[in-house]
Amino acid sequence: MTNSHYRLRLPGPTAVPERVRQAIAQPVLSHRGPEFRSIFNRAEELLQPILGTRNRVLFFASSGTGMMEASLVNILAPGERVLVACHGQFGERFAAIARALGAAVDWLDFPWGHAVDPAQIERRVRAADYRAVVIVHNESSTGVVADMAAIGALLRDRPTLLVADSVSGLGGVEMRQDEWGVDIVASSSQKALMCPPGLGMVSLSPKASEVVNRDDRLPRYYWDFRKALESVEDSGTPFTTPVALMAGLREALEMIHEEGLAHVLERHRRLSSALRAGCEAIGLHSFPQAEMISSTVVCLHVPERLKGGDIVRDLYQRHGTVIAGSRNKLEGKVIRIGTMGHLDAGDIFTDLLHLEDTLHKLDFPVTPGAGVSAAAQEILDAR
Ligand SMILES: *Cc1c(COP(=O)(O)O)cnc(C)c1O
Repeated sequence: MTNSHYRLRLPGPTAVPERVRQAIAQPVLSHRGPEFRSIFNRAEELLQPILGTRNRVLFFASSGTGMMEASLVNILAPGERVLVACHGQFGERFAAIARALGAAVDWLDFPWGHAVDPAQIERRVRAADYRAVVIVHNESSTGVVADMAAIGALLRDRPTLLVADSVSGLGGVEMRQDEWGVDIVASSSQKALMCPPGLGMVSLSPKASEVVNRDDRLPRYYWDFRKALESVEDSGTPFTTPVALMAGLREALEMIHEEGLAHVLERHRRLSSALRAGCEAIGLHSFPQAEMISSTVVCLHVPERLKGGDIVRDLYQRHGTVIAGSRNKLEGKVIRIGTMGHLDAGDIFTDLLHLEDTLHKLDFPVTPGAGVSAAAQEILDAR
């Protein structure tokens, strides 16, 4: 299948722009040599404003889940309490990791698709001592964004750390780590950062570093942030850096800054709301009920008489458009489309053309062009 017939429209991994692919294809460098150090330093320097931090950034050869586990393994002592504020599938994963590590996990469940209520978190952190509150910033399974500023404000004057999974948020949804008081942000390369999978990253506040540096934490070796914090002072990682992916990341970050971070975030907002408006017009209603809706993933109800899997399959088989269903309790009931990374209005219009055609094929009534027209209106209104 050629590229023109394969449209990667998942909420991760996402399509990688040509410039980034060229950077990845360059000859491999020594991970301790001066050529690579300058790429490494530049990548860190360009990532810091996207994280909204002046903290050092640690890089690992890892998927996003590895960075979630690494974040917990570095701050927990055996049996310590964590509060998982869960609003979707990736929150469940965070809780499962914490349990696997032997933490005492308290669970605060929010209905999927609804907002996370900081007042409920506040009640819990007043009632018990937690090492950390753990939360997914941008819940890719539902398309809801958690109010990290409000949650950060609750924990700022407590010893409890705030740990955020922003794997599908970073680069597409605003993150202001220092200002909001987020102690650990975990992310990875394959979503809004426009790179192939395989490169993970975290940034730690001084409050988090203090806990990480204690000797009584869980056993750790490859994931040991103490080693990584030492190596980063010397522009590197403790073990072999995935140099090609770092070169790709650096290029992707240059692209983000050339466009301007504020513009990039605004483009994500505009295109995701255009896609939602277009979908609404053809009978695919937006799933999230919350006020803070994701700009990086559009999550849609599947109409009663259709099956999510049939829409996903037909889009792929007849149009080469690859979107996601759900692999959780929403299976069959929700479909998801990525609106992150290297994306323009043409991508959204093509998605809608293909969706209209697929719905028609599945005998669901659509007015041809209705989705495209509603999306175009939304984009014009935003100007
Ligand atoms: C994609 C994603 C992850 C990471 O998944 P990996 O497959 O391990 O890279 C974690 N959290 C969220 C919210 C995600 O969207």
